[in-house]
Amino acid sequence: MDDRILLRMCRMSGHEMPFITEAFEGEWVVPLGPNVTGFEKDLEKFLGENLPVVALSSGTAALHLGLIGLGVGEGDEVIVQSMTFSASVNPVRYVGATPVMVDSEADTWNIDPELLDYAIADRIEKTGKKPKAIVVVCLYGMPAKYEEILKVAGKWDIPVLEDAAEAFGSEYEGRKCGTFCKYGVLSFNGNKMITTSGGGALVCPDMEAAKKTMYYATQARLGYAYYQHVDVGYNYRISNISAGIGRGQMYVADEYIAHHRHRQEYYLKHLGCVEGITIHCNPDNRFNSNFWLSTALIDDSIRIKGEEEAYASAITSIVGGAGAVTEQSSDVHTDCEPNTNVEALRLGLAKLGIETRPLWKPMHRQPVFSKFPAYTNGVAEDLFHRGICLPSGPYVTDRDADRVINSIKSLIL
Ligand SMILES: *Cc1c(COP(=O)(O)O)cnc(C)c1O
Repeated sequence: MDDRILLRMCRMSGHEMPFITEAFEGEWVVPLGPNVTGFEKDLEKFLGENLPVVALSSGTAALHLGLIGLGVGEGDEVIVQSMTFSASVNPVRYVGATPVMVDSEADTWNIDPELLDYAIADRIEKTGKKPKAIVVVCLYGMPAKYEEILKVAGKWDIPVLEDAAEAFGSEYEGRKCGTFCKYGVLSFNGNKMITTSGGGALVCPDMEAAKKTMYYATQARLGYAYYQHVDVGYNYRISNISAGIGRGQMYVADEYIAHHRHRQEYYLKHLGCVEGITIHCNPDNRFNSNFWLSTALIDDSIRIKGEEEAYASAITSIVGGAGAVTEQSSDVHTDCEPNTNVEALRLGLAKLGIETRPLWKPMHRQPVFSKFPAYTNGVAEDLFHRGICLPSGPYVTDRDADRVINSIKSLIL
């Protein structure tokens, strides 16, 4: 191992192998079996709301099947939080629907309930039709403003799908994210709070919905010897091996979550006092983020070493001039980029062996989605311009965090 500090590495607990060995010995090397059922039971218990959970091959698959469960199809509109990772929006396109992006509010960085209300009214006025569903996200683990959002959704009678891929173990008023809306999505990708090497789950409202989800996840085949199909199906179940990793990870889930929360508190204590740096915090005591990633906003007033070079390189790569073969040169450049002080900080930290990343670029500014309707208030773009994700995984120790903190301080002019 070198001494680089990475953003978020997965970590095995030592409890995984027995489940995998058992699977091998029983010849359960297939996308069903005792680990799949066992992992689902573990998740149901962890979430604590008596809701059936279906384990799947990815969080993206869970979003796709959640939209199908809500009956979303061709010609429908789906409202999606713009400030998110692309996997929240791509499945809207898989089912042939139109995503309508809605901006965030500044406390949680998640969908703005007032703008959501406005957007729904405006869509109805413009298209004569209600949006079919709403996708809310718990960004970097921060619970969305459920109370306010569900009130708006209830007023218009539109079901909500909750993308809690980053919020495993986060709580709102003591209740786990993923259990507040009609469907909830979890992810166990390699970089998420716990991992199955790749996997996800759909939290369903009832057994009927869970059965329907399993049906679509296993090629939509009806129980004839020759298989009969009346629907288009998918191959989205999780493998019994992956689920075995998940069962092992459940032993340490609470420990990992506590570690991530500790990391955020530590950054807050040692960086929160630096003028111009704001560590993202729970807005009030309803919120209890898992702080999957600790994030910070860097004020425009902060000057960073090497900023002029970062600015110059951004310019050359936009105009495609000499020296444009940078990390970014193949990107489609737009006028929406992180601020140069943030970019200089990222590059400066990378030179010191510390990996950081800008916040998610809002979906309404992504070339692939920019042609779809968007309701904006400037919050998501402002966050993208000023934000940075700090190393946060189970491998990041207090000593590592000290190095991150001191390196950041050393790069500020
Ligand atoms: C990771 C992630 C997903 C997708 O999960 P996968 O398991 O990687 O498919 C969806 N939404 C958000 C916000 C994510 O961060």
